Amino acid sequence: MTAQRWANVLVDCPGIEDVLTYVVPNDLTVQVGDVVQVPVGSRTVGGIVVRQLRELPEQLGRVRMRAIAAIVAPQFLPAAYLHWLGQIADYYCAPLIRVVQTALPTGLLQRSQHRIRLRPNFIPPGWEVFCSPEAQHLLAYLQQNLREGYTSKHLQKKIPQFKRARQELQKRDWLLQDYVIPKPPSPQRQQAVTLLSLESATDLTPRQQEILQCLHRQNGQQWLQDFLKLAKTTKATLERLETKGCVVITREERLRLGETGAVTTDETKTLTPAQAQAVAQINHITGSARLLLHGVTGSGKTEVYLQAIAPRLAQGQSALVLVPEIGLTPQLTDRFRARFGDRVRVYHSELSVGERYDSWRLALTEEPQVVIGTRSAVFVPLPNLGLIVLDEEHDSSFKESQRAPTYHARTVAQWRSVQEDCPLVLGSATPALETWQQAQDAQVQYLTLPQRIAQRPLPEVAVVDMRRELQQGNRSMFSEALQGKLTSLRDRRERAILFIPRRGHSTFVQCRSCGFVLECPHCDVSLSYHHGQTTSLLRCHYCNHVMRQPRLCPDCYSPYLKFFGTGTQQVEQALQQQFPDLRVLRFDSDTTRRKGAHRERLAQFAQGEVDVLVGTQMLTKGIDIAEVTLVGILAADGLLKMANYRAGERAFQTLTQVAGRAGRGDRPGRVILQTYDPEHPLIAAIRNHDYLQLCQVTLPERRSGGWPPYQRLVLLRVTGLEESEVEQAAGVLAQGARTLLPETCEVLAPTPAPIVRINRRYRWQVLLKLPLNEKLLDLARLYDLCPQSVSLLIDVDPLEVG
Ligand code: ADP
Ligand code: ZN
Ligand code: ZN
Repeated sequence: MTAQRWANVLVDCPGIEDVLTYVVPNDLTVQVGDVVQVPVGSRTVGGIVVRQLRELPEQLGRVRMRAIAAIVAPQFLPAAYLHWLGQIADYYCAPLIRVVQTALPTGLLQRSQHRIRLRPNFIPPGWEVFCSPEAQHLLAYLQQNLREGYTSKHLQKKIPQFKRARQELQKRDWLLQDYVIPKPPSPQRQQAVTLLSLESATDLTPRQQEILQCLHRQNGQQWLQDFLKLAKTTKATLERLETKGCVVITREERLRLGETGAVTTDETKTLTPAQAQAVAQINHITGSARLLLHGVTGSGKTEVYLQAIAPRLAQGQSALVLVPEIGLTPQLTDRFRARFGDRVRVYHSELSVGERYDSWRLALTEEPQVVIGTRSAVFVPLPNLGLIVLDEEHDSSFKESQRAPTYHARTVAQWRSVQEDCPLVLGSATPALETWQQAQDAQVQYLTLPQRIAQRPLPEVAVVDMRRELQQGNRSMFSEALQGKLTSLRDRRERAILFIPRRGHSTFVQCRSCGFVLECPHCDVSLSYHHGQTTSLLRCHYCNHVMRQPRLCPDCYSPYLKFFGTGTQQVEQALQQQFPDLRVLRFDSDTTRRKGAHRERLAQFAQGEVDVLVGTQMLTKGIDIAEVTLVGILAADGLLKMANYRAGERAFQTLTQVAGRAGRGDRPGRVILQTYDPEHPLIAAIRNHDYLQLCQVTLPERRSGGWPPYQRLVLLRVTGLEESEVEQAAGVLAQGARTLLPETCEVLAPTPAPIVRINRRYRWQVLLKLPLNEKLLDLARLYDLCPQSVSLLIDVDPLEVG
């Protein structure tokens, strides 16, 4: 046997992206996938062993190399899993450490520590005689807390020569070592704290700035109690920041119903013939395969997932269920919990760091389980994975476009299914055209549920021409037809959903005297108005900058500041004016910012405490409430007119999904679709619930324009503080891409991004069009061409192309 003398380690240390090489001490046996502690500079950090070296690369020969300090968790990541991460790094042109950091919950590497305690019964009386002074010191120290022991980090600080002492006691087998699983912070909430501005006050202490930064990282808002713990600060400190105008502390209404909701048990349903066929086909598969489950809204896709998962759980395998957004998860999670009990675990970005960490650790146990989660849950390292489900596979939130790796959960799940040799089921009522095309080409097996459960009809869609409404003197935002339905809603004991397709954010504040529009100081967008009972706030939806609504125009000091546009708040107010009897609740990214808010609001609606739910994109997902018979779409046009080759597909998907919320119970549903362009071919496709019509309209355009699914795209996103530098860098990178890519690829001229400035950074982009099977390995070299002052993100298979 050859001794492994060196190892490549990925370290969890900001600024270091390359793998580092360490000496493996003789008394350690390291393996690929071990979590280790290694010295970097004067600190000890966590890392993962990615390769063992028998020989040192030439150029490293002369460097004095440091040694791995300890193995924290042997074989933490299976080798196949690491290989999969490597595949993701290559495909998305990202450094491997970035993929590892995306995969692992924040702080996992830092937190992964030993807790060391004594085995009291093993230690013979008079032990001092046998031990060196440092070992005696450690023993004495550990005896102060026999039950829990101490973390190795703590002991390292307290005990001189700790490592030697530990080794000595280890040899005698006197120590017990466990991993630390931090306790998730307990939920405790009433008051919320909201960030107003990071710069409004100049006389801040570094500590105060740190606290504000911390809040900024929490999306600018958190429950007060949670935040105090997170920022390790006091309420008095926050109150001082409030007097300085940096934050506001508000008492937010705590809606009823807790985190988990009442879990009832649920019987396995007798499948319809179409469902039975789909389940049989999935269960027939032994190895890896992709299947598209194309089922109209309310056709019972979830029941198919449940019954495909059940036999796998029984065989001791686990399943991974990916869903687009957390707004969808409460109901879906409840259905899974009702069926599978506490074998269901949830993993998503709303969990606190501690909770995510716990879910991860629990996933590593061999016990069969179902993990439900959003995009990043695709990385949960379930051993013995038997099935992966991607529900609403067309949804754009499965794609990461902000940071490297710019992965799509569907793409990486596909490789994972190959790696794990298990099927991947892609479910949707409105599949992505890429997936549809692959089903046509037989790369994906096609399963269909063409009808709703119990022969319920799909909702009837009435298209209303808003131009005609105006001609007839109706200046309200609700058409006559919609008003009629809303008037009788309560008498019929039914519920409604009003959908506002938001294109950008449409509520802005303008001075009626001078026309001045309040804009975000950091972005090229206007601030959105948020009406509040005590204070009205203006918020930037791109960088989260928040300020109080000023009383006077900042430009001409006139008091006539007025907000314009139709956001959810305006629709809510209009409804309350016109229909005072209706109980209205908003459901959008502002009202559901807080943890648990989605569930609370949906529960209120489901329990009939509310008649009308008013909201944006989030409403399209997964709401299954029998009493909803009416869906109103206030203006379909914004969606159809977006400057993106995907606009048509998106509009069809969004509107079909939202329409699909109506008539899911015994009473038939009705959709009123208001538009200024009723002749648009996609409006007809939506009215007819006809996916093929979408394909017929859209695919020929995609083919002739050289867009997906016929070609691949890569978008170079270039940002920086100086506009001229950004523009210049974009030119250099476009040139670089031309030399790195073969001639079959097209490099378009650099252009400014649709919104040129966000968060004070200027944004340019370069679009690359590639043949379908082009490999991108060389493209990562572009990172070296990019000047220091400018940052580059290679967005592979981008969805947002302006
Ligand atoms: P989808 O996910 O396709 O929109 P769901 O899975 O939400 O549809 O199913 C719609 C409704 O039909 C749910 O309330 C579900 O409980 C019910 N359902 C599904 N399958 C069956 C079945 N085989 N028999 C009776 N009810 C069913
Ligand atoms: Zn902004
Ligand atoms: Zn003015």
